Amino acid sequence: MNTVQALLHARDGALWVGTAAGLARFDGRRFVTLEGSPIPELQGRSVFGLHQARDGTIWVGHTRGAARWHKGRFEPVMDATLTAGRRVWAFAEAADGTVYAASENGLLRWASGEARALQEADGLPTRRLRALAMAPDGTLWIGTTGGGLVAWRDGRAEVFDRDTGFPHPEVRAVLADADGGVWAATAGAGLVHLRQGRMRVYGVADGLPTPHLTALSRGRDGALWIGTWGHGVVRMDDAGRFDSLGEAQGLAGDQIWTLHADAEGSVWIGTWHGGLNRLAARPFTLFGRPEGLSGDNIRAVRPGRDGSVWLAVAGGGVNRLRDGRIEVIGRAQGLRSDEVSALHEDEDGTLWVATYTEGVARLQGSRVQTWGTAEGLPHADVRALFRSRDGTLWAGTRAGLARLQGERFEAVREPGAPAEGVNLIHQTRDGTLWFGTAGQGLVRLRDGRFDTLTREHGLLSNWIMALHEDRRGSLWIGTNGEGLNRLRGGTLAAIRPEDGLGDGLVQVLLEDGQGRLWMTSNRGFSRVDLADLDAFIEGRGPRVSPVSYGAGDALRSSTFAGGVQPAGAIDADGRLWLPSVRGVVVVDPRRLPDQAPPPKPRIAEVTVDGRVQPLQDRVTLPRGAGSLTIDFGVQSLLPSERVRFRYRVEGLTSGWVDAGARREATFAALPPGPLRFELAASLDGRQWHEHTAALSIQVQPRLHQTPLFLAAVGIAALALVGAAHQFRTRQLRRRSAEMERLVAQKTEELRQANEHLQRLSFADALTGLPNRRRLNEVLDNEWRRASRQGQPLAAVMVDIDAFKAYNDHVGHLQADEGLTAVAEVIRQTVHRAGDFAARFGGEEFVILLPGADTEAARGFAERLRQAIEARALPHPASPVGPVLTVSLGVASRVPQPDEAASSLLAEADAALYRAKQAGRNRVAVIG
Ligand code: GH3
Ligand code: MG
Ligand code: MG
Repeated sequence: MNTVQALLHARDGALWVGTAAGLARFDGRRFVTLEGSPIPELQGRSVFGLHQARDGTIWVGHTRGAARWHKGRFEPVMDATLTAGRRVWAFAEAADGTVYAASENGLLRWASGEARALQEADGLPTRRLRALAMAPDGTLWIGTTGGGLVAWRDGRAEVFDRDTGFPHPEVRAVLADADGGVWAATAGAGLVHLRQGRMRVYGVADGLPTPHLTALSRGRDGALWIGTWGHGVVRMDDAGRFDSLGEAQGLAGDQIWTLHADAEGSVWIGTWHGGLNRLAARPFTLFGRPEGLSGDNIRAVRPGRDGSVWLAVAGGGVNRLRDGRIEVIGRAQGLRSDEVSALHEDEDGTLWVATYTEGVARLQGSRVQTWGTAEGLPHADVRALFRSRDGTLWAGTRAGLARLQGERFEAVREPGAPAEGVNLIHQTRDGTLWFGTAGQGLVRLRDGRFDTLTREHGLLSNWIMALHEDRRGSLWIGTNGEGLNRLRGGTLAAIRPEDGLGDGLVQVLLEDGQGRLWMTSNRGFSRVDLADLDAFIEGRGPRVSPVSYGAGDALRSSTFAGGVQPAGAIDADGRLWLPSVRGVVVVDPRRLPDQAPPPKPRIAEVTVDGRVQPLQDRVTLPRGAGSLTIDFGVQSLLPSERVRFRYRVEGLTSGWVDAGARREATFAALPPGPLRFELAASLDGRQWHEHTAALSIQVQPRLHQTPLFLAAVGIAALALVGAAHQFRTRQLRRRSAEMERLVAQKTEELRQANEHLQRLSFADALTGLPNRRRLNEVLDNEWRRASRQGQPLAAVMVDIDAFKAYNDHVGHLQADEGLTAVAEVIRQTVHRAGDFAARFGGEEFVILLPGADTEAARGFAERLRQAIEARALPHPASPVGPVLTVSLGVASRVPQPDEAASSLLAEADAALYRAKQAGRNRVAVIG
């Protein structure tokens, strides 16, 4: 339904998408359908080939020929005699600017404004060409349907076919390397590599999942990407190893039409029925239930000393990850409850496990010992376990603190000791013990005495979620919703959400080897440079600039765990383990997605008083204009939630205005005179793209002007749609390291992109019948054909009776089913070759009957009416009868030369109106 046949990453950063129903353009955020084409041939035509020429022109190959997009409009590039009305599949360009096209009518060549078709007479083995690639030495490589591979140089063809040892006559894609080598994807004999007169064929025996290949693209890292028919995409690395990825890994389809590996490291994939897909490197690994854990909701994580990792799984006991295997320790193994909360490991490998309901357990090998309130715990709900340097084991419970004395726990009741929820225990290098509580502030034990820090002392909240002592000796305190405190030299400083922190919930604080602090919240996780935090506190920076990772980063959930210890940890290899309600996320801080250079900013749209202006580098505001809105974005197709913007208007703003993630700035009543709007983009708020996009604004002056700056409007946060790419642990271990990092993205942007492509398509989503777009196309064709042949063409317009009442009575969902049932009857009744039924809209359908005169069409309509009535779908609210019925309008005509096809539908509609007037559930004919 949603077939993506051609992809082009244009130099302005936009992605052009050719589909079975036309052309669309995606700028990373928004889709534009290029339907306003003045070229009728392109309207709704299937697009097969896309190419951007050196002069920037975009060439479009479609069902009947080719067109060119130049300076914002389409122009035809050939007359029909050149293509004989056949498909154009692919383009290539020579160094001298000559453009070639592979068509079903030969090789089309445009040189100095002249077009020519080269065919069998010119030495080609067939005129059915499919793929093109221009080699650096000027050889044009041509993939054909039926004639194998052709090397075209100096006007002569060298043919590689069965006779010369080439393994298959159909070549779907060719790719020419800089080293002179050429790759050909065949439709049945695998992949062929030709270099220096030698040929090597790669087939199933070499690791390809199928010999039926469809597309080729070279990745940024040098890998060769191969599209297959039925087996997804395949990546071939330098060593000639193949690794494939398909529907099982989250791709929306295994039949690949086209693919494009872009310069940003993404691989774009056009599929037969799964629309547009993007593979992108996911910087994280996820472990959850799909990978074999006993549950998805992870509360705490503790890397063990022997390289294993302990996970506290809500309702699932303790899971130990070791050597790619998962061991579950729960009630069956002697825990009193599977509702595990906190974890602690001793130096000798003994694991301490806390639970929400049944106290504490100790695991030594397979021995389990447990403690509950009967064994001295003040409460069975335990949130933190910690062994201080003097050897004491502490437990933080809902009713305060306890420590292990011999074989029993003992509540700590000394003056000042926390008496309620203790969810965090920490010891700083000076030996002080810290107890974070849920509402009673931060309790400290030094020199045998307890004292408490609260809001009165400058804490942002009395609800403490996280503690971390950094390398410079500052104690960082994360709170539940209010932000971050720093305690240093006895002084508390604060960083609030509005200071740039973004989220006030700080559930864990982890310092990586690069001087950055990582935190989790309910909106993902983030990192911020400690130096940045210190600079802000010391007045050297206006705000802090964390980098956030959220829904768009292929997390399964952006809600992370907190309130038990440890709600995150760093393992011996420096990787972060962050527990979330949908799996634990493992991040290697040295391999981050945004260590890419900042993206280039781009002005997307300029609107004056609501009217879109032509995109130029200057805009003139008429006298008295109200407001100017500038929409912006980046020249990148990477997920862009992370991109932040700043802008300035010389003479208006004092320096840069931080727009954050907003992509729009609105100015009202700008001061007269020339102004200059400048835009910059960044991924981390520190490194900005130097090439600022600029716009000159000329405001024509008027009286009484007061400069006023309107706040820009925020954009909605992007939500993750669908589950992320899911691996089973064992599978994950089998995949190559590079493939393992790739994830079929399910971002909101992509979802919208595909929704857009879906709308472009010809099929109606509810009934599966052809839609109105398709009807218009078929109607035009049939009208022309009938006109040529002097034959009648009939249209039957069908409208369900009293469908509004039906909706009201049975509900929308069931009404949809009624609609589908009627569509099904129509589908069954329309069976003569050439007859065509479509959903016209709502509960209306149109059937075209070529060759049918009025009487024949009336007969058909009456049969259809009866068939629908006979289907007997109960319609208790109908004024017509007890079942769902339809009214039908019939028109038939021999088209006259200057009549529009739409007049036939208008007539059928007028007839339908009569049928309704006459009492419904009947057929009416005009004339
Ligand atoms: P009439 O006999 O005059 O055709 O009466 P009617 O109620 O069918 O009137 P009309 O054609 O004006 O209204 C069509 C109604 O069909 C409007 C809307 O409630 C309903 N409808 C249109 N499309 C859909 C759809 O896709 N699903 C559902 N459930 N209802 C639809
Ligand atoms: Mg209607
Ligand atoms: Mg109706």
